[in-house]
Amino acid sequence: MKKLENRTVFITGGLSGIGKACAIAAAKEGANLAIADLKSDDVTAAMDEIKKENPKAIFIECDVSVFAQTQAAIEKTISTFGSLDVALNDAGIGGKPNKIGDMTEKDWTDVIGINLTGVFNCMKHELTQMAKQKKGVIINISSILGKVGFATSAHYVAAKHGVIGLTETAALEYATEGIRVNAICPGFIDTPLLTKGHINSHADVKKHIIDLHPMKRLGKAQEIANAFIFLACDETAFMSGSSIVIDGGYLAQ
Ligand code: NAP
Repeated sequence: MKKLENRTVFITGGLSGIGKACAIAAAKEGANLAIADLKSDDVTAAMDEIKKENPKAIFIECDVSVFAQTQAAIEKTISTFGSLDVALNDAGIGGKPNKIGDMTEKDWTDVIGINLTGVFNCMKHELTQMAKQKKGVIINISSILGKVGFATSAHYVAAKHGVIGLTETAALEYATEGIRVNAICPGFIDTPLLTKGHINSHADVKKHIIDLHPMKRLGKAQEIANAFIFLACDETAFMSGSSIVIDGGYLAQ
């Protein structure tokens, strides 16, 4: 028996990196998939990769920082598949690095709007539906930077700490309504996000980032997907309000 057979899984940011690895893992476990992401040139190729594992997958164009678009995306998921069993709130950006004194208001609001308000927007509509069903699982992607600071990334660090706060609060509010809410805190993972953040293009910066991890390597998106399946399935029925750290030892130092 597959772990997510016929369950409806909604994933934001599911066209790339961690979100795509989770989508493929869920499809292999038999899930129906709704992938909500910005429209990009990669839509068809990414959706083909996911559909190869399970053809019951749809793409929904959605900017998570826009409240009405997240509501429409959840409604489309339910009208297509009939329920919302698992939600992975993964969409995020790295933001422009700067010390707080040099950070522009726009740099701050862009990251907070996607990485924190975007998670609230999705959770609000996911929880409304899951409360009606008296059943559901939410997994939020935070970060090791949801636990500790990181110079030049105040916007990202604040947003990811906020995601853990949202996760713990929702877990308390819905604990008796059949809904579990957990977070995953990855270390630095080898995804297109690192290329967008110019980490992959600078060998010295990449080595510095790798060396921050006691295991002396970056994580793999598949290693986060393994934890996602663990949290999404019934094996973790007594887990809620947790933040699972997957970081090659980064936070143990
Ligand atoms: P990624 O490969 O860049 O994937 C992120 C996906 O989110 C992309 O498809 C991106 O679309 C989409 N997205 C961006 N803004 C969006 C918006 N406003 N609405 C909807 N979708 C949006 O990055 P990743 O590394 O997989 O990151 C996924 C999550 O993991 C993020 O929340 C990130 O903060 C977190 N995380 C990553 C790492 C890491 O080292 N990679 C570590 C810890 C936590 P575009 O490509 O079109 O922008």
